[in-house]
Amino acid sequence: MEKKESRPLPHELERMASKERQKHLEERMREIIDYAYEKAPAVKERFDRAGIKPIEIHNVKNLEMIPMLRKDDLIALQKANPPFGGYLAVPIDSLERIYQSPGPIYDPQRKRGFGTGGGMGSDFGKGQIVMNTWSYHVTPAGLGVDQLLRSMGFTVVPMGTGNTELQVQVMHDLKVHGFVGTPSFLNTIINRAEEMGYNFKKDFNLKWAMVGGEMGGELLRKLFQEKYGILCMGGDTYATSDVGTVATGCEKQSGMHITTDAVVEIVDPATGKQLGLGEEGEVVVTPFDEVYPLIRFGTGDLSMMTDESCGCGRTTPRLTKILGRSGEAVRVRGMFVHPKQTDEVIAKFPDIRRYQLVVTRPQNRDDMVLKVELANGAIDKEKLKNALDKSFKDTCKVRFDRVEFVTEGSIAEGAKRIVDERVY
Ligand SMILES: [Zn+2]
Repeated sequence: MEKKESRPLPHELERMASKERQKHLEERMREIIDYAYEKAPAVKERFDRAGIKPIEIHNVKNLEMIPMLRKDDLIALQKANPPFGGYLAVPIDSLERIYQSPGPIYDPQRKRGFGTGGGMGSDFGKGQIVMNTWSYHVTPAGLGVDQLLRSMGFTVVPMGTGNTELQVQVMHDLKVHGFVGTPSFLNTIINRAEEMGYNFKKDFNLKWAMVGGEMGGELLRKLFQEKYGILCMGGDTYATSDVGTVATGCEKQSGMHITTDAVVEIVDPATGKQLGLGEEGEVVVTPFDEVYPLIRFGTGDLSMMTDESCGCGRTTPRLTKILGRSGEAVRVRGMFVHPKQTDEVIAKFPDIRRYQLVVTRPQNRDDMVLKVELANGAIDKEKLKNALDKSFKDTCKVRFDRVEFVTEGSIAEGAKRIVDERVY
């Protein structure tokens, strides 16, 4: 694909008026669809089977016509047609690297790697040593981030995962400025350093951390900043090994700005139809990727989009946070209920031994019953019901219809916590 001379740079796209940016993104979207249809046999086959021509896709809304490509589809396609399932749009011998992620799924290295550097120059990190603790083996995270950091001028120590004591030693000896990895691993390193007798704040030089990759990192970020004076940069980054970076946090830490290198949709996982701002749905990505153009890749992750203005000056919409995996959640009356949320509710009630949430759909209305097995049958059930109702409503933002107390053993050990029995 020829790059057009007039094309705005990522940091320009990130700051322009939404309508204007949309125009540019849709132009690139049409280009990548034409290109993928021509170069990647699996894309052509998918379009042909659905009776769609690339020329029919003019705007983001039109993407709904294209069936979503799910991780399971990709696994099956790769198995039937190894290694890339017909999605590779360039000759295989032109690839620099090939990665593998669980599935197994093979991922060709893409040019853009992980993150965009936010338009920062190559001198940005000059004179600073950074420890990269993402895995360098097989998966794309370590090498992708390594490439990005070096392009920004940082000196990188390719630590990879594990070996906490060695990490402590290197961080101390090299007076490392920056840490890249998960918040929990940084926490482990700090704890180990303290166990080894160091005073982390005094004996180490760690000034900032770019942490992400797991849910619930907010508390640790706060701890790093307040207790150790470590500036947590960039908030979270949301990337998958299949489509690369989807969204990156900014210094305002109010969600993750969506990349300008892809079209990102939030859809109802059941129908593939796009949802509005502020509605929970599955993140679907169409990266502008000439190597591996996965069109409408369903990440299986649930999130929500907002276009409220951000103090950092970027005008790109943001993902609020990743709410969970769509395969485990059910959408009831417009809201997702996730086993993580129901576990959180039930954990507050020690008298409950097991539970199961059953969703049915009599007379075209979602009906939700919370089945409960008690550890102690003598308790005040009415009181428990009311407390459950309140707690469930607070956490899941939707109400169950009733509680059903079932006899001991009715719910099998290891049974699914949320059962969807709806028939449409
Ligand atoms: Zn921002």
